[in-house]
Order: sequence, then C-alpha cells, then structure tokens
Amino acid sequence: RIRMEKIKRFQDIHVEAARFYLANLLTSKNYGYEYLRKRGLDDKIIKKFGLGYSLDSWNALMEHLTSKGHTKEELIECGLINHKLESNKFYDKFRNRVMFPIFDYRGNVIGFGGRVLDDSMPKYLNSPDTLIFNKRQNLYGLNFARKEIKDRTIVLVEGYMDLISIYQYGIKNVVATLGTALTEQQGMLIKRYADTAIISYDSDEAGIKATLRAIEILSKLGISVKILNLKDSKDPDEFIRKYGLNEFKKAMDTSTHQIKYKIDNLKRSFDIHKDEDRVKFAKEASKIIKELKSAVEIDYYTKYLSNQIDISVESIKREVYGKNYNKL
Ligand code: ATP
Ligand code: MN
Ligand code: MN
Ligand code: MN
Repeated sequence: RIRMEKIKRFQDIHVEAARFYLANLLTSKNYGYEYLRKRGLDDKIIKKFGLGYSLDSWNALMEHLTSKGHTKEELIECGLINHKLESNKFYDKFRNRVMFPIFDYRGNVIGFGGRVLDDSMPKYLNSPDTLIFNKRQNLYGLNFARKEIKDRTIVLVEGYMDLISIYQYGIKNVVATLGTALTEQQGMLIKRYADTAIISYDSDEAGIKATLRAIEILSKLGISVKILNLKDSKDPDEFIRKYGLNEFKKAMDTSTHQIKYKIDNLKRSFDIHKDEDRVKFAKEASKIIKELKSAVEIDYYTKYLSNQIDISVESIKREVYGKNYNKL
C-alpha cells in the first residue's frame, strides 16, 4: 500500500511537471515554441503530444514542485532534479530544452525527453529508469498508436521527432524506441497489437545496426518485418517533410522484406567482382535464405540472389537445403 501511494505521488509529480513545461512553452518568453514550429509542428500536434519547454533556469521546476508539497528527495527519485554532492546543491535536470512527455500505453506520463534548441550536446536527455518508468518495457507513442492500428501493422521509428512528424502527416500507427536497441519486452508489446512491423530507423550505420537487431527480435516473436526505404533521407521525419504523405505510404507499400534487407546489407561487406568474395557472399547469403520456412519464399529469394551474383539457382538451393536437397 505504501508503494502504491508512492506510485500515485510519482504520477502526480510527472503530470504537474508536464503541465509546468507546457505552460512555459505557451506563456513564457522562450525559443522552444519557435523551435518546434520551425521543425514543422503545428499547435494541434504540440497539444496532442503535450510538448513543453524547460526554462533556462537552475531551479524553476524544483521551486514549482516543492511549493506544491513535493519533496526534493522524491523529485530526485523521479529523475527531475539532480543533487550535486560536493556542493550540496540541487538543480533541475532539464534546462532550456523542448520537452517531450513519455507516456505509458494507457497515457500516463512516466518520464521525459528533452532536446536542446541548437546543436549543443547532449542533443537529448531522457529520464532515468524510476519506480514508474522502465525504458526497456515501454514504447513511445503506443498510447496513441494502439487506437490507430489497422491490419495489425505498426511502424517503428527511432525518435520523438520522427514519430510526431509522421503522425502529424497522418501515419498514426507508429511507435518509437527512443534511440535504444529494441528489447524483447518491447517486441512482445508490439506483438500484442501487430503481426507486421515496418522498421523506419535512421539510414546511418547506427540505424542499420539497430534495424538488424530489431529484425532478429521481432521475427523470433513471429512478427513479419519489413524495412522502409528512405531513399536519400536520413530519417523518416526528413523523408516525409521532403516527399509528403503519399510517397511515405508508397514507401510503406513497397518496403523491403527482412530477408532481402539482410542479403542487401550483407552484400555491402563483399566485393562481388572478386571470385573469392562472390563465393563467400553466396554461402553467407544462403544461410540467411535458410531461415525461411516456406518453399515458395526460398525459391523467390534464391532467384533474387542468383541474379545478383550469377551463380545458378540450382547450386544455391543445394547450399540452402544441404543434405535435404535430394529429398526434394
Ligand atoms: P532530431 O531530429 O531532433 O535531431 P533525432 O530523433 O533525429 O532527433 P537521433 O540522434 O537520430 O535524433 O536520435 C534518435 C532518438 O534517440 C532521439 O529521439 C532520442 O530519443 C534518442 N537519443 C538521441 N541522442 C540521445 C542522447 N544523447 N541521449 C539519450 N537519448 C538520445
Ligand atoms: Mn539516429
Ligand atoms: Mn534521427
Ligand atoms: Mn531527425
């Protein structure tokens, strides 16, 4: 019961903090609102996602919340203020940042992300894990997305801005992992609502690595995974702002099957003009095709591979089926 009361207080603290940040954004003189507008967000979406601004002050939030009766100790436990031991000083963790409340799937505020208004570092700060927030078990945006899912398909992006941006354009069945690698718990959460996931992480190396990892986790859970092709854009926010909703939908419709994505990605690490590399690539790619259970799919991706490296379908199939090949 004591624990339940504490959870309740932590929830209160987060709601009040979110209200405070929101009021700052809309009423005080600051560049946060201007920043969000410059990034293409309108008032409606700012409200919907409860975006706010943490003042350029060492203790504005602390003053506000302690005046409402909350203790510094609990504000520290919520990760909203820090305590500097050497000088015994307390100060707000989030200062001069645009603030993104993080919701659980029911819509309770359980944490925050804060972004600087320029290119200073660190670009984002996030709440630490607390009594009410576990990063690994939560998906940003799920509270909204779960009401919008059709055909049990979900879009997976990296960041706050990606999610809010494509949501504003009309892609609402979207959740974000907030820059960290997808966990198994998050995968299971997705599985409750979807059988198909379209991954649209950043196109940089970090994004590719995270995509490959997410493919493994999701496909193990029986989710069919596709990967959105961002063309020349670095992330889905940039893509949709550049090309618009219809192109994004088109990209969703033509997104790449996980096996093709893995083969294409593997290919990058070989120089297939060299005989030796071509053979190695063929063997490694056959292992990927081996993961498929359907003979039709195996046939399809075998042809795909064969066309790329000019090795016969026949021998790739031998490689894929191994000693079972003669039983075919
Ligand atoms: P923006 O478009 O605002 O520059 P982004 O989402 O494209 O942001 P990325 O660097 O791609 O920025 O990061 C993706 C996500 O990863 C962010 O939305 C944030 O949740 C998380 N993230 C990024 N940098 C950090 C950091 N330094 N600490 C914690 N989380 C971070
Ligand atoms: Mn990134
Ligand atoms: Mn990004
Ligand atoms: Mn971005």
